[in-house]
Amino acid sequence: MAILKVARLGHPVLRAKALPVAPADIKTPRVQRLIDDMFETMAEYVGIGLAAPQVHESLRVFVAGVRSAEVTTPMGDDADMPLVTIINPEIVPVSETKVEGWEGCLSIPDIRGKVQRPEAIRLRAYDRKARRIELVASGLPARVIQHETDHLDGVLFFDRMTSFETLAFMDEFRRYWAKDDEDEDRPE
Ligand SMILES: [Zn+2]
Repeated sequence: MAILKVARLGHPVLRAKALPVAPADIKTPRVQRLIDDMFETMAEYVGIGLAAPQVHESLRVFVAGVRSAEVTTPMGDDADMPLVTIINPEIVPVSETKVEGWEGCLSIPDIRGKVQRPEAIRLRAYDRKARRIELVASGLPARVIQHETDHLDGVLFFDRMTSFETLAFMDEFRRYWAKDDEDEDRPE
């Protein structure tokens, strides 16, 4: 396994629309190695999510989560999001309700900002064993899944902000904005 270089804001790969992975290619060594390397890279940088374009691979793949556990359906508000590999995701909101939450991004280091997103979503995708998966997510997992799926379409969380008033550097975020919730420190 290897720790990959993370593309930062300004790199065109972050603005490209990533290509789907053919289901027959999911189990190939190339894709499996990419997934392993993405998990290792996400752990190295203490992230909660990482999309393939962030490591210069324009493919519709992301990894997310904070601990090894069976994926529960639905994924709830639990901040302990299980580790998942998501390939070719399709998401639809399951409610009209939007919620505001802090986001960060490994491609936009040391910046936080508040983003409004649908509170709950339904996700259809493939997992790393090329199985079809479908789940409903709310809370933190829903936010992370939406943030990472945006990366596959060249969309960054800045684009989703309705106001830049909450944009903050990490030091100022911790000093003036952060509550006790350490999980909000983890970038995606
Ligand atoms: Zn991100």
